[in-house]
Amino acid sequence: GCEDGSVRTIRQSNKLRGVRYDVRGPILAEAQRLEAEGHRILKLNIGNTAPFGFEAPESIVASMTHHLTEAQGYSDSRGIWSARTAVAQYYQSCGLKDTSVDDVFIGNGVSELISMVLQAFVDEGNEILVPAPDYPLWTGAVSLTGGTPVHYRCDEANGWMPDLEDIESKITENTHAIVIINPNNPTGAVYSKEMVEALVDIARRHDLVVFSDEIYEKILFDDAVHHHAAKAAGDDVLCLTFSGLSKAYRACGYRAGWVMISGPQERATEFLEGLTLLANMRMCANVPGQHAIQTALGGYQSIDELVVPGGRFHDQAMLADKLLNDIPGVSSVRPRGALYCFPRLDPEVYAIDDDEAFVIDLLRAKKILVTHGTGFNWFEPDHFRLVTLPDVEVLEEAIGRIAEFLAQRR
Ligand code: PLP
Repeated sequence: GCEDGSVRTIRQSNKLRGVRYDVRGPILAEAQRLEAEGHRILKLNIGNTAPFGFEAPESIVASMTHHLTEAQGYSDSRGIWSARTAVAQYYQSCGLKDTSVDDVFIGNGVSELISMVLQAFVDEGNEILVPAPDYPLWTGAVSLTGGTPVHYRCDEANGWMPDLEDIESKITENTHAIVIINPNNPTGAVYSKEMVEALVDIARRHDLVVFSDEIYEKILFDDAVHHHAAKAAGDDVLCLTFSGLSKAYRACGYRAGWVMISGPQERATEFLEGLTLLANMRMCANVPGQHAIQTALGGYQSIDELVVPGGRFHDQAMLADKLLNDIPGVSSVRPRGALYCFPRLDPEVYAIDDDEAFVIDLLRAKKILVTHGTGFNWFEPDHFRLVTLPDVEVLEEAIGRIAEFLAQRR
């Protein structure tokens, strides 16, 4: 305090003004308050696999345990050699034959790398094209840099495909990059080869960098196929591809992700030096988690069993989709990948002005936590996102309770 006894209010930095991350925001605080009162809350607000009975492959756990003693020291700030090599070889095996160990940075999950990359790249006033709806870290992390997230519309009537005309119409001389999330969170859309090429072609024509978040690349249903943006980008569009172990290997707590840089790196030396500086400043990603990467990417891919008919990821997603669409006034585009449904509540039937309040009402009444659509920067308060991780009995129960709640609101 001061000599006169007054004390200063301790405020958050101005940088945080307008930064939001609603999947763990006030809705989670309310859920935790209810839990403290003794209520059991079914949390369907984040894609966290472990609480729903999914286990990381044993070989991953064994690999971390095996290396635990030698993982005590800091590693190279870009990541341990074996992990970076494994990532490079993974992309080589996907047809990106020139990917090398020097193109890869390992991070504490994709989350850290998204923030680091944007901090290294964006200046105040720069505009970054971000999908709406988006995974809200992208919008929040752009805002935190002082840059401006500019949302392009994904079209629900067209399977949530990006609206290419809307993207073009939002490009200005200040636009520096476009974010692609494919497979998409929250919509479950998976983009065709033509769509990925069209998005990258916009970047090519307007000299934009591509940030491609592909963390759900292996969670694909039915005949969905994933196409790497880096392949479409070739050697003339700078492309940063983000992925990691959190989803396909059910290992989100191990915090192991990567970014792979492709394209005309000679034009980006200063940016890449900046990224290296930021990587150096945080020393390294947690080293035990890095030791899981080579093991995960090599060998048998147990994720393949979860995404086919009869596998939990597949069957739960299809059941959730069906049950949601059975509710009057609810329509949901069937997910083609990822771990979510993003249903629409017909405004003629439900008339919601504040979807966060709606979600909190649902939570209080039915003890189920979902996330409101505007939390994903969707434009209207008429959607919510449901995580499809619970097994079919729990999903039936949960969507049943959501249906009861909605019946009272019609
Ligand atoms: N990107 C998307 C689209 C996500 O959905 C998530 C997590 O849900 C992340 C990134 C963050 O993943 P990580 O655990 O690697 O930080």
